[in-house]
Amino acid sequence: LLPKAETFREAVEEMMEQLEDRKHEPVLLYCTGGIRCEKASAWFRHQGFTQVGQLHGGIIDYARQVKAHGLESRYKGRNFVFDGRLAERVTEDVVGTCFQCGKPSDRIANCLQETCNVLLVQCEACAERYHDCCSPRCREVHDLPEAMRRIWRKGKRTRSARQKVVRDPEALRARIAREEEVLAAGGSLHPELTDITFRGSQGQELALPEQPEQEAAAAH
Ligand SMILES: [Zn+2]
Ligand SMILES: [Zn+2]
Repeated sequence: LLPKAETFREAVEEMMEQLEDRKHEPVLLYCTGGIRCEKASAWFRHQGFTQVGQLHGGIIDYARQVKAHGLESRYKGRNFVFDGRLAERVTEDVVGTCFQCGKPSDRIANCLQETCNVLLVQCEACAERYHDCCSPRCREVHDLPEAMRRIWRKGKRTRSARQKVVRDPEALRARIAREEEVLAAGGSLHPELTDITFRGSQGQELALPEQPEQEAAAAH
C-alpha cells in the first residue's frame, strides 16, 4: 500500500481504512528511519490489528544491511530522507517521473523561488529549463536581480523547505503549458511587477530585465 497522503497521520488513517476488513492478516510497516512505524504500529494494534510487524531502523538501516551482506535490495530507487540530501540512493532503479516533463527521474528538488519552495521531482533538463523553479511563473521572479526580488517578496510569506509538496503533477504540467503560452505571446506572469517601482540601495530606479527570448518553441 502506498497511500496518497500529505501527512503521516493522513497516511495511517488511509491505510487503516483500506485494511479495515483484514485486521487479522499480517501487516508490515516500513518508513524512512523506523520512528514513524514505531508510532504507527502501536496505533494499528490499538485499532485491533493482530499481526503488526515493523521494519526496525527503517529503509535507512535496511539499505545498510543489504549492502553489508551483499543481498539484493527489495527496495528500489532512492529513499527520501529528512535532511539536506533529500534522498539517498538505495538501488540504481529510477522509479519516479519528472513532475514537469513526465520523463523518468528521481531527482528531488525544492523550487528555488523563495516564496514557493515547493518540493517536486524534477529532471536535470527541466531544472535547467525552469532555472530550478517549479514553473515559468516562479522562474520569472527567480530571474529578477536579488534587490528586486527582495522588494517583490515584501509582505509575502515564505515557505520553509519541504513544507509543501506538489500533489498533482498533471495539474502542474497543465499550468506550465498555460504559462508558457502567456510567455510565448509576449505576456508576463506577474503583471504587477510593472506597477512596482524598484529602487536600488542608492535610491536609483531599477529597470525590469528584458524578457528573454523564449526557448520553449525551440526546445520542442
Ligand atoms: Zn523533466
Ligand atoms: Zn515554485
